Amino acid sequence: MTTFASTAPTAMNSTNRPKRIFNFSAGPACMPEEVLLQLQEDIWSVRGSGIGIMEHSHRGPVYDKIIEEAEADCRTVAGLGDTHHVLFLQGGATLQFAMLPINFLHPGKTADYPDTGVWATKAYKEAKLFGKVNVAFDGSKTKYDHTPSASELSLTPDACYLHYCSNNTIYGTRWPSPPKTSAPLVADTSSEMFARPYDFAGHAMIYAGAQKNLGPSGVVLVLLRKDFLETQRKSSADHPIATMLDYRKQVENGSRLNTPNTLGIHVMGLTFKWILKNGGLKAIEQRNAEKAKLIYDAIDGSGGFYKGHSTPECRSHMNVVFRTPGDELDKKFLKEAEAAGMDGLKGHRDAGGLRASIYNAFPRKGCEALAQFMAEFARKNG
Ligand code: PMP
Repeated sequence: MTTFASTAPTAMNSTNRPKRIFNFSAGPACMPEEVLLQLQEDIWSVRGSGIGIMEHSHRGPVYDKIIEEAEADCRTVAGLGDTHHVLFLQGGATLQFAMLPINFLHPGKTADYPDTGVWATKAYKEAKLFGKVNVAFDGSKTKYDHTPSASELSLTPDACYLHYCSNNTIYGTRWPSPPKTSAPLVADTSSEMFARPYDFAGHAMIYAGAQKNLGPSGVVLVLLRKDFLETQRKSSADHPIATMLDYRKQVENGSRLNTPNTLGIHVMGLTFKWILKNGGLKAIEQRNAEKAKLIYDAIDGSGGFYKGHSTPECRSHMNVVFRTPGDELDKKFLKEAEAAGMDGLKGHRDAGGLRASIYNAFPRKGCEALAQFMAEFARKNG
């Protein structure tokens, strides 16, 4: 009898692997190398099953274990008990901009949305399609250079929820601590999920597109508090909620209402294990703070050659946004940085200038290399 056992083609190994460069991309962004190497094996055969991760049924026993473990590890990283549901959904963070108001913005009531930059703006504009929104802070007046203090927020009494963007990827600002409100708190943490300890339990909902700190794009992690789900607006004739967009139905089906992003969820699971192995969120926060300091010190120590976009107290540890004295010099900076093996430093088209995205997996060595490059560039061009 003929058997069709396959053998692996020559795989990359530590001797024939192509060299990697420093990737400062804002997202999709660089991932932990240990995760990439494990994934390389798992694509061929995962957990000794003889079947690759993309080839397993999402309802089979091997995948059951993978998704259950990813959820359990996520709870351990976040320090969450069973107050929250853990969901792995599709459509990226952008679909959450719609799902949130569809499910939780009740007729006649208002949701608060401080506007701290492009992603926060997109979120409130999407919510406006479905109900009443109060823009609780207008950051555009100061070019989104900070997140608001309590006195700058104008909140609605009895709001359905307050939505904020914890880290503003494009402007390089973050909320030093979550806003204070009596409304249920909802955070878009896409560009700093699991980058620092956070009051996960205190949030009604936290969501993050995976492609910066958790895995590949397309999959989104949602932590949804059970008591908040109880306040869900029910589907009705004049407000039908599409099945895929109904949090309750996603919860009832364990994120497997349809075929989920099986690969993406697996990578998230590997990334949660990597975070735990590396000391959890406190240790990750410490490393991130040190990495960011290297670049902020290069800005502050340049005698005014570089200007940071964020006010010092709101500086992001994930996205460092800065500029040289002129657009032409910015271009020169990019060209020379690229030649020195540093990619992805161009600022977002809305903010201009330069941006170094240094998420959890970005190596400290890359921050040291950039800081050194910045000092030399300032010396030669200042
Ligand atoms: N929110 C934030 C803070 C982001 O940085 C991004 C993507 N850069 C998004 C939302 C949108 O994410 P997605 O492309 O997964 O919809």
